[in-house]
Amino acid sequence: MKSEKPLYSVVVTGDSLAPEAMKLLEGACRVVFAGPYPDPSKLAQLLHQEKAQGLILRTGKATAEVIQASPDLKIVAKHGVGYDAIDVAAATALRIPVLISASANFESVAEHALGLMLALAKDIARMDTRMHQGFWDKTQYRGVELFRKTLGLIGFGRIGRRVSQLVAPLQMKILISDPYIPQESIPAGIQSVSPLENLLKEADIVSLHCPLTQETRNLIGDKELRTMKKSAFLINTARGGIVNEEALIAALREGKIAGAGLDTFSKEPPDDLRRLCEAGKLVLTPHIAASTDAAFTRMGVEAAQNTLTVLEGKPPDKNSMANPELLETKG
Ligand code: NAD
Repeated sequence: MKSEKPLYSVVVTGDSLAPEAMKLLEGACRVVFAGPYPDPSKLAQLLHQEKAQGLILRTGKATAEVIQASPDLKIVAKHGVGYDAIDVAAATALRIPVLISASANFESVAEHALGLMLALAKDIARMDTRMHQGFWDKTQYRGVELFRKTLGLIGFGRIGRRVSQLVAPLQMKILISDPYIPQESIPAGIQSVSPLENLLKEADIVSLHCPLTQETRNLIGDKELRTMKKSAFLINTARGGIVNEEALIAALREGKIAGAGLDTFSKEPPDDLRRLCEAGKLVLTPHIAASTDAAFTRMGVEAAQNTLTVLEGKPPDKNSMANPELLETKG
């Protein structure tokens, strides 16, 4: 039976959650929305004032100040997968589990990566704009076929794997670079390549699917872009900081690569979008790869479930934890 007075106080960064997620929380929780991308100091104030026990992070940052603001905080739930905007060390120090919505959005993001590949290869966005302007650029146009080309996936987790399945009918040769997955988990026909340079040299399309960490920040910089084929495309639906944007602008201007499809940027929204747009062949989307109805619902539901699990004192799912070591050590 649900109690009459909500038991828990939960702050959400954003202005809404999917109705299915709200249904899970209502009764048990008082949900307070902080609005999208709240300033960390203001978010910290709100958590303190609300004596928040749960924080669901849709947008913005959970800095140490935010995590330490409410003495009652018991869970930080990421509405999504990437948790580079959460100070996990600060949460771990307070024994606060950080949980992600692990299986909520890989399908949508993988489809988006495929969409960016096709949009680049077929110039769909540019040709559409030209037709809307009244042009008929048929005679001179030559697009690129993806059939039997080589696809290099950097990161072979949920999204990278799904991309490899989605391109199956195109019979692409698939190379992967992922130092953390066991060899036996790689499906037959997919080749693990090391060092990364070998993948960059061979791939017609390089698609990023690793998290942003200290190790992957600027993973794709000047040297790596120069190693890629001049005809190659770079796809980034992972995180902006993995690609050095200045180096990418230079590589596009100098024709070191043929184009890029970007959903994520080192600063969002980017400070100088025009400079980026003018660099070369680019298909850009504003960090929306996971913004489908299906993924939005799943992200909200998983974040709400994770929050309730912890607030009700049940053990969290280890596979969804950014700090699973909390399960192994007693506080
Ligand atoms: P995942 O944890 O299932 O897979 C990530 C993979 O990257 C793992 O297999 C890991 O071993 C690998 N990896 C780690 N360091 C690496 C390195 N240095 N080089 C190569 N591989 C490395 O995560 P996922 O669900 O596949 O998501 C991948 C990333 O996509 C997330 O971290 C997130 O930043 C990003 N993402 C973006 C959106 C979006 O809206 N654009 C949505 C969801 C996720």
